[in-house]
Amino acid sequence: MPLTFAQRLDNVETSAIRELFKLLGKPGIISFAGGFPDSAMFDVQGISAAVNTALQTEPGAALQYGATEGFQPLREQLSAFMAQKGAKDVAPDQLIVTTGSQQALDLLGKTLVDPGSKAIVEGPTFLATIQCFRLYGADLVSAPVDGDGVQVDKLEQLIVEHRPRFIYLIPTFGNPSGAMLSLERRKRVLELAVKYQTLIIEDDPYGDLYFDAPPPPSLLALTAEVPGSRDWLVHCGSLSKVLSPGLRVGWMVAPAALLAKATMCKQFSDAHTSTFAQATAAQYLADGHMPATLARVRQVYGQRARTMTDALRSELGDAIDFVAPQGGLFVWARLTGAGGKLKDGAELAKRAIEQGVAFVPGAPFYCANPDLSTLRLSFATVGDDKIREGIGRLARALG
Ligand code: PMP
Repeated sequence: MPLTFAQRLDNVETSAIRELFKLLGKPGIISFAGGFPDSAMFDVQGISAAVNTALQTEPGAALQYGATEGFQPLREQLSAFMAQKGAKDVAPDQLIVTTGSQQALDLLGKTLVDPGSKAIVEGPTFLATIQCFRLYGADLVSAPVDGDGVQVDKLEQLIVEHRPRFIYLIPTFGNPSGAMLSLERRKRVLELAVKYQTLIIEDDPYGDLYFDAPPPPSLLALTAEVPGSRDWLVHCGSLSKVLSPGLRVGWMVAPAALLAKATMCKQFSDAHTSTFAQATAAQYLADGHMPATLARVRQVYGQRARTMTDALRSELGDAIDFVAPQGGLFVWARLTGAGGKLKDGAELAKRAIEQGVAFVPGAPFYCANPDLSTLRLSFATVGDDKIREGIGRLARALG
């Protein structure tokens, strides 16, 4: 008898990107494929100090079972962290700590999705979100995105047509699009949420990673300006991209009824996020290291982003089109086919590996109607010289 798996698994494929990652072991390859922050950016000293203090001052809390909602000092720190960024009225008990923001997405899938439930996501969007919501049977609808983020008029049409249970957006430096939703569109999204009584999920792991000017306030912060919108907003945050993904500390702000259901589901899933990691994160924030860490990562990633966009312009010219990212970890680009050059991102990815450079083709990031000419290039983990060399290799692969 073969093993029998749950039918919900029929809806999900292992990611095409995983196949590509198998090729990355090739010696000498320059990889723009990952979605990781740079390990060299980790504040090892600050985190070590936080671990030591947490163990000395709160060993019982840091090593014991804890509350499913999260370690209270961390909830307080996260509430203050969001307040510094404009979301001033999120009390500690209006958020729960999650095991990375990925767990928040899973809890949202569990609590909101029935087989066949409609949900709108951006086209393109974070691949793991597509897979996670599909695992629960979601019927995903793709909303078009341009350089200013999701196109709000189209979004409204889709809401009217599909009456989705929720809309999932990455408004700030999205993965993979790098796009930044404009202030005007942010307010309109919140107005749509109220008008159609539709939940908006704001996934915001990259908002702190801006290069020059800060992005517009988060949807969460802007709920203060759009009456009634807070009742329709979920906000997912994460320390992964700014501090350390290995800590697995994320959080979710949501209306009370949803937070209660998500907490119940979390209880059956992992009981609570590692108290050791939570006590460390709480201490790190309390020690006041975050502003310096953020300044450092913004500077380094901003420099690398400029190196990559300059190299793309000079090496690939009109064969490639992109909006220079103002934050985050990614350049999202489209092959134009100019000069009769290749327009297929997946084909270019294969040729690029032969030339010793890797990136992720864009098609898997769409839940429907993929744009096959797209690419996602991460500049985060590669130094400036290697970025220039890698883009030179990419140009040779394109021919
Ligand atoms: N959302 C988005 C848009 C992401 O890009 C990622 C990480 N790649 C996550 C959520 C999950 O991050 P984590 O679980 O580490 O917080």
